[in-house]
Amino acid sequence: MGSASLLLGHAHPEVVSALSAVLADGSHFGAPTESMLEWGERVCTLMPSADKVRFVGSGAEATMLAMRVARAHTGKEKIIRWESHYHGWHDYVMPGNVPPFDVPASIGIPQGVIDSIVVLPTDLTALENVLNNDDNIAGVITEASGASYGTVPLPEGFLEGVRRLTREHGVVMILDEVITGFRWAPGGAQESLGIDPDLFTMAKILTGGLPGGAVAGRDEVMAVMHQTGDSHHDRYERVLHGGTFNANPYAAAAGNAALRLVATGEYNAQADLMAERLRVGLREVVDRRELNATVYGEASTFHLYFGERSIAGLDASRLKDQPMAIQRSLRQALQVRGVDLMSRTSGVLSGTHTEADIDFTIEAFDGAIAAMMD
Ligand code: PLP
Repeated sequence: MGSASLLLGHAHPEVVSALSAVLADGSHFGAPTESMLEWGERVCTLMPSADKVRFVGSGAEATMLAMRVARAHTGKEKIIRWESHYHGWHDYVMPGNVPPFDVPASIGIPQGVIDSIVVLPTDLTALENVLNNDDNIAGVITEASGASYGTVPLPEGFLEGVRRLTREHGVVMILDEVITGFRWAPGGAQESLGIDPDLFTMAKILTGGLPGGAVAGRDEVMAVMHQTGDSHHDRYERVLHGGTFNANPYAAAAGNAALRLVATGEYNAQADLMAERLRVGLREVVDRRELNATVYGEASTFHLYFGERSIAGLDASRLKDQPMAIQRSLRQALQVRGVDLMSRTSGVLSGTHTEADIDFTIEAFDGAIAAMMD
């Protein structure tokens, strides 16, 4: 499922034909194209919180740019992030990415960067304490699904609480919709959950399976990206946003075709339906084989957790730390039966999966579990 970028399945005929139609025109004109403008307008039409949009080269670039915009808008430096939420691979999102959360997920991260990131458990009291005691907070970034496309679901009312507290403290709320954008609903989690972030990030489905990403948000916050005058000083009084392949014409063609299809809502509905069928089927196997495991997931995602019959009360350290032996054996046992998982013991569905695909997958899972129990 292309790391969750393929809501429309592999090589959707309308995406392929839109891309084929522009391939011979050339890949780079050193200037904006009409297709880029159309793409931006589609984003602003679908996503309720988008007044303005800027395209970048990937989801990681989108979260990096959103953090810079938040800093520029507030004049503050630090970003609050939640334990184990995934926002890409750049320096600023390495602290707090994997358990134990006090060590960055990669070596090579400067101490100054580490010091500028506040890592918290998903607890509104912890957020309120930091906001009350540290006046150098620019923004709070949150994966709209909860960590890793919902492997660690957010507590009830959490996004609403983050919205309220960030508003009260004049801090920018960044909603990372790289996964949920165009997947939770055509208008993302902001539409399905009714959350109104100041800024949000997109990638994956946005580009119809090609490289790219975007940041969008409220006019007032996005305004720091505009150069207001012509003097040398004015040139440096805005957020710099370069990138050879930003809004690349091929990505724009594929993105326009993809968002046209997403706007129908049909792909979201089918993907959600198939995910529900899969979750029900996997649960039936878990129950019949009396496994100490549980199956969960929102929208078009599914997650398996081995070791408990419910994930209630399990924190990010537990949910992200299943034994590697189980993860590897399950994946291999599924692969030899013709099924692969996106990551760990989780995955996403597309709007082109059929009931037959799902039933095949459930049977493969049953066979894989039987082999593992032998
Ligand atoms: N944010 C989230 C929520 C993601 O899931 C990902 C990628 O999986 C990213 C950001 C980074 O996107 P990219 O891999 O396009 O850099």
